[in-house]
Amino acid sequence: MGINLETIYQTDGKGQWWKREIKEKCEELIFIRYACQREKGHDGEHWSYMESGSYVSSLKGGGCCILPPDSAEYISPLDSRNEYYLSKSSDWIEVLDKEEISRIEQDEKEDQISVDRPFEFERKENV
Ligand SMILES: [Zn+2]
Repeated sequence: MGINLETIYQTDGKGQWWKREIKEKCEELIFIRYACQREKGHDGEHWSYMESGSYVSSLKGGGCCILPPDSAEYISPLDSRNEYYLSKSSDWIEVLDKEEISRIEQDEKEDQISVDRPFEFERKENV
């Protein structure tokens, strides 16, 4: 696992496992309250969107800007999606290695990893 990646797991509860490596999110807050939506360690400016849809960014050397949707320089979420931290993450990969699966199942018992279960399985568990 790389320093900048977090692995998340999903299982059907019957021994089938998938994993996905997601980039860690940048921890910068713009104007103290808007969390940067890029990955940790990225280049260039930090950016986020306000509830109003305005684009907010802060430059690494200092200086912030707010671009409302009707401004000429506005950057839409569609234009910035390639920089969005989840866009930098892998797709779901099926885990095929038996040893890896037993390690994951052990970690799951010890609450070392977060596991996401499909809805079907969760419903059966709760009956
Ligand atoms: Zn950032």
